[in-house]
Amino acid sequence: MIPVANMEGRSVAVLGLGRSGLSAARALREGGALPLVWDDNPAARDRAEAEGLTVRDLTRAGGFDGVDWLVVSPGIPHLYPAPNPVIAAAWAAGVPVDNDIGLFFRSVGSGDWDSFDSPPKVIAVTGSNGKSTTSALIHHILQSAGRESQLAGNIGRGVLDIDPPGDGGVVVLELSSYQTDLARALTPDVAVFTNLSPDHLDRHGGMGGYFSAKRRLFAEGGPDRCVIGMDEPEGRYLANQLSEGPTDDRVIRISSGQKLSGPGWLVFARKGFLTEWRKGRQVAGIDLREIRGLPGAHNHQNACAAYAATRALGLAPRDIETALHSFEGLPHRSQTIAEAGGVSYVNDSKATNVDSAVKALLAFRNIRWICGGLEKEGGLAGLAPGLPNVRKAYVIGREAAKFALGLPGVEAEICTDMATAVAAASAEAEPGDVVLLAPAAASFDQYDSFEKRGEDFAEKVAAVLARG
Ligand code: ADP
Repeated sequence: MIPVANMEGRSVAVLGLGRSGLSAARALREGGALPLVWDDNPAARDRAEAEGLTVRDLTRAGGFDGVDWLVVSPGIPHLYPAPNPVIAAAWAAGVPVDNDIGLFFRSVGSGDWDSFDSPPKVIAVTGSNGKSTTSALIHHILQSAGRESQLAGNIGRGVLDIDPPGDGGVVVLELSSYQTDLARALTPDVAVFTNLSPDHLDRHGGMGGYFSAKRRLFAEGGPDRCVIGMDEPEGRYLANQLSEGPTDDRVIRISSGQKLSGPGWLVFARKGFLTEWRKGRQVAGIDLREIRGLPGAHNHQNACAAYAATRALGLAPRDIETALHSFEGLPHRSQTIAEAGGVSYVNDSKATNVDSAVKALLAFRNIRWICGGLEKEGGLAGLAPGLPNVRKAYVIGREAAKFALGLPGVEAEICTDMATAVAAASAEAEPGDVVLLAPAAASFDQYDSFEKRGEDFAEKVAAVLARG
């Protein structure tokens, strides 16, 4: 645990008692603060009370009397579509609003660091897609190279649950836009921006709010090194803003698909080859085509980001290459779960938006595509570049018929549920086909989470294959 620093004797309200709220409350208590916790759900309050935490009803008048600070969980809207009433009450009472990420950055550095040969480093990863894969890959590369690494944030452990990093240790954080928007301290040594596409727009009041939430990670005077995806205008804008000139290698520019040029520090992947360039010369290269855990151009972008971040910490290209080969990928992200009769079954249940689904469609050919669910704003037009790879769509979800109408030129069968879709796709698949779950939609109309949806897919595939 990282005890929260500089809050001794202060009353800190904690709103939301999920994983991050509870761990924040514990770390506050450990650091000598008095956490006052609240959750609208009585069961969550009971669990906290059973741990000896003090429950304070923050919704009643005077709920913030004597409170110095408020720590909010990422699931709770802090501004759009409307601020949670407890947060609005904190504003009215003049109480600063923060989150566990802010507490982490104000607490992670300790006096011991002065005696370390090599002070610990924090790498923070944000972006619309590929955050988890990139963070997990950085962690994997560091561990394979024998460096102490801990993975936390949106993936792995809660940020305040990790162990204080040791001499030469690295903390790899995956940070969502909700987390970067609210944190009052954000000071990573290396910050990574993978890409940007519309998502969570209701929570950020539109695309501008969404981008500015992510940009906070790169605030002036922030990271020593920034790894920036150049494949959208927002990334190009950010890279320009952060560098002092074309040779400034505080910024490492990355791309999947484009050949980048210039005298700066560049890492890009084209046609399955990753290359690193400095001062206009290629200094290293890696063939990504045979790396099973990272299929498709989108994963090559993740490979570039992880390569650049670990190069920024001084790892050798050869050690990074070895580690890329042993990366198995994450569950529910372009994960091959079975192969039978020449047909592959791929679970990309995490493709909850159009941008990630189109990347999955572009990573494979001859696709029997299981798609559909709770559609996100923005429509399905963005799927068009991937549709030529689709042999047939098998549409699930409560609104399957409406979803199918958004796929012009694609043969589509309305299956509604997973069992029907897997049975139909598998029965019609021929050798060389890929049965791909990449829904391009959220799961909540039929499942509690994308993980549950992916597990259901895997179960139905196993059942169909067992029947022969
Ligand atoms: P995040 O944590 O940002 O949601 P994940 O690594 O969990 O990212 O991947 C989310 C989804 O996006 C998956 O469907 C995955 O296959 C797809 N994806 C992964 N990396 C990228 C990328 N660089 N660009 C676009 N889509 C990606």
